[in-house]
Amino acid sequence: MMPDMASIIRKRYRVRRRLLYWSIGFFLVATMPMANLLFEVVFRLIGGEWPDWYGVETTFRWVTVLCTPGVLLLLSRSLLTRWLVPLPVPRCPRCGYEVVRLESNQCPECGLRLPEALVERGEDDCQ
Ligand SMILES: [Zn+2]
Repeated sequence: MMPDMASIIRKRYRVRRRLLYWSIGFFLVATMPMANLLFEVVFRLIGGEWPDWYGVETTFRWVTVLCTPGVLLLLSRSLLTRWLVPLPVPRCPRCGYEVVRLESNQCPECGLRLPEALVERGEDDCQ
């Protein structure tokens, strides 16, 4: 049985939201080295000395390592969602031929008689 369009839309919405949460998670984890860097800059400006736990280069590296997947996920959410939850294409159960816009219930590739629910008719929707 092919999933209906409403369930696919719901599933895509859930996957898209989950990807958003993952990207937010990456940004939240990246705020820790960013906060360390910020404190270090503020303490140096007011003349104090903030303990340089990681070093500025390592901090920048961590921010980059954590923000890059966050940005990539955020920007490619829609594309990833369409790839992860594709629209179903009705196919012949025997040979895998796409049974779209057929004139009859018979698979043109292998001749299998297909159930009516599986076949998409070849009528033109434009009127
Ligand atoms: Zn077939």
